[in-house]
Amino acid sequence: MIRHAVDAVRPDAAVIAAAAAVIQRGGLVAFPTETVYGLGANALSERAVLGIFAAKGRPSYNPIIAHVATVEQAQSLVTRWPPWAVALATAFWPGPLSLVLPRASHVPLALTAGRDTVAVRMPAHPVALALIEGAGCPIAAPSANRFTEISPTTADHVAHGLGNRVDMILDGGPTQVGIESTVVDVSGDAPVLLRPGTLSRATLERALGTTLRDPAPAAEATEARQSPGMIERHYAPHARVVLVEPGSVPAAVAKESAAGHRVGAIVIVASAPGAVAVHRLPADALGYARRLYAALHAVDDAACDVVCIERPPDSLEWVGVNDRVRRAAHP
Ligand code: AMP
Ligand code: MG
Repeated sequence: MIRHAVDAVRPDAAVIAAAAAVIQRGGLVAFPTETVYGLGANALSERAVLGIFAAKGRPSYNPIIAHVATVEQAQSLVTRWPPWAVALATAFWPGPLSLVLPRASHVPLALTAGRDTVAVRMPAHPVALALIEGAGCPIAAPSANRFTEISPTTADHVAHGLGNRVDMILDGGPTQVGIESTVVDVSGDAPVLLRPGTLSRATLERALGTTLRDPAPAAEATEARQSPGMIERHYAPHARVVLVEPGSVPAAVAKESAAGHRVGAIVIVASAPGAVAVHRLPADALGYARRLYAALHAVDDAACDVVCIERPPDSLEWVGVNDRVRRAAHP
């Protein structure tokens, strides 16, 4: 695996050219986006896309988002570009929003996990955009981690998690958003919020001029669910996660320590006396999202068997964070 440092604002042309060459020959490049690090391959090459599934240990039923540098490139992957796509792309692209649309026939079924739809996103990170432009093709990129593990927000996270399973890592520093993109399905009769992220429902609905639906509950029960981002255990550290109310953190830490565990804590306002690693995260949802995964990685690096997470607030701007925390805590 080759690792290159790259300026996150003005990426070096020679580094981008080297990474683009890896994509063009069907290889894998981990690169920063504004959400998390992606594991990229040529989205139009079935063989390259299968390489992503192999490197991640990702089940083949889990579709991958295609990243594009322009709206036209997104449109080339789909058969329809409805008014909702126009509204959302205009309001939020480039940015942390993926749109699910009817798949064009040349898009490999491996990418979409056999579905008639494909997810597309124009990321806001200069390195990601330069790489897509340099490669001259849309880039398939799930998060650059092994399946069910915590998404990477630094190049070190990628190197630890994937090592030589990836051909090249572009190190553009820590990512800004910190959790995965919001996913909205605009392929049907009404827009559906498949996966919450940092864009609030109200902001999305204002741009759409209509209300977002929630995924049909029936689909959630099956493996072939509409958005496998909904898999219950996901984004999880090796440490067992105990989700506790702010006032109960000290007691939870004491109880787990007394049971002989090595206990870490991720808190906002609570104190956690006795924990071997305490990570205090910002009290605003965006700041918390930016640092959550690094804290989870750090708890694992500190070899904690248990991590007590202070339950974040319940208000609307915390929906994306609470979704990830709940999944991390799922047994
Ligand atoms: P990630 O592994 O974080 O890149 O997440 C990719 C996620 O995007 C998947 O787990 C799904 O939730 C969602 N996704 C990608 N393609 C589709 C699709 N065709 N239909 C529905 N959801 C999709
Ligand atoms: Mg992922």
